[in-house]
Amino acid sequence: MKITASSNSVAYGEPGIFRGHFSFADPRLSGYMWPLCEIRGDRDGPRLCISAGVHVNEVAAIEAAVRLQKLFDPRKIQGSVSIIPLVNQPALYKYSEYVCPLDGKNINFSFPGDPNGSFSEILCDAIMNEWCVGADCYVDMHGGDLRENVSKFTIFQHTDDPVLDERARRMAMCFDAELVVGLPVAHIPKPGRPPTGFASKNRLAIMSEAGANGLVDEASVQFHVDGVLNVARALGILDTPSTEFQRARVPCDDYIWVACPTDGEFYSEVEPGDRIHKDQRLGTICDLFGETVAEIAAPETGFLLWRITHPSIPNGSPVLAIAVEERAASQRKGDIRTQQSQTTIRPWHGTNVRFKPELLQKKGNTDENHNDYSITHRGFVACCPVGTRQG
Ligand SMILES: [Zn+2]
Repeated sequence: MKITASSNSVAYGEPGIFRGHFSFADPRLSGYMWPLCEIRGDRDGPRLCISAGVHVNEVAAIEAAVRLQKLFDPRKIQGSVSIIPLVNQPALYKYSEYVCPLDGKNINFSFPGDPNGSFSEILCDAIMNEWCVGADCYVDMHGGDLRENVSKFTIFQHTDDPVLDERARRMAMCFDAELVVGLPVAHIPKPGRPPTGFASKNRLAIMSEAGANGLVDEASVQFHVDGVLNVARALGILDTPSTEFQRARVPCDDYIWVACPTDGEFYSEVEPGDRIHKDQRLGTICDLFGETVAEIAAPETGFLLWRITHPSIPNGSPVLAIAVEERAASQRKGDIRTQQSQTTIRPWHGTNVRFKPELLQKKGNTDENHNDYSITHRGFVACCPVGTRQG
């Protein structure tokens, strides 16, 4: 790790506030320097790593990472807080949506990374094993790329380890969220978000999401800031009282992506955070003559996590996502085996799409179910790789 301190900085590793830049050890990452602020207390204690800017247009999260640097007093904290305010350095000033421009991969879906992989995968490996080494928790802040509006929510990863599971849930509940999403255990074997990649190594990471359309809005910034401070309190880094919670923090245990069934203009009938019912119409897809060509219906009862705000959406591209409320503890108890044997990450339910009959005929399908079947099997992964979007 090569480190350059700013003029107003303590030496790296000393108590106080370090400000500067560093490069990761791997020579394939050496073309970039990452900004780093690390606040180290006089007293040893837990280590919290915080980042933003994996998606460079998610600016409320980046602003939160800037403000947080001034909210930890090294004389008052126990342990250390390390902040990288903008992870996706190759995307800086390129305004790339979702991906790292060097390899076209979504860093957010490349954890735990691969030291022999492409730039994004090497970076994820370095984040986990170089920067976050020894961290008690890693919080990656997101939300609101150029064409999306997200609810205020957090993500953690369910695991088979009840102790890690409970710690992860507790950290995710530190944010004043509308929704708290625990990803199914079935996510763990595949490359995924930081909570998933860290959980695959029995480590703890969570994500916070708030923001819209590449704008810095105060409520979203505050959501991220307050949540991270509460995480620091839960870890024992800060000994001040937690902020109060105003939102419901509804526990959810499934995250369903819905893709656009055809090229067209999306007219949404729901907004992030809305409660929605299975089969409820969530919006319509129209052509440029204003004619409805498809309707999107809710695949499950739950809440709208986010939606795309730009009306023009191509066939197969994600249009919205739904979180499914966790079943009551009593219902879950006898059902553990069912949950653990769920191996499908449901990207998209074919049954949530209703085409106009004329369109079905045009497509050579007169049977709506048959059409749904073909849509399902055309599949989200084929139409829109997970790596192209955030989440
Ligand atoms: Zn993001």
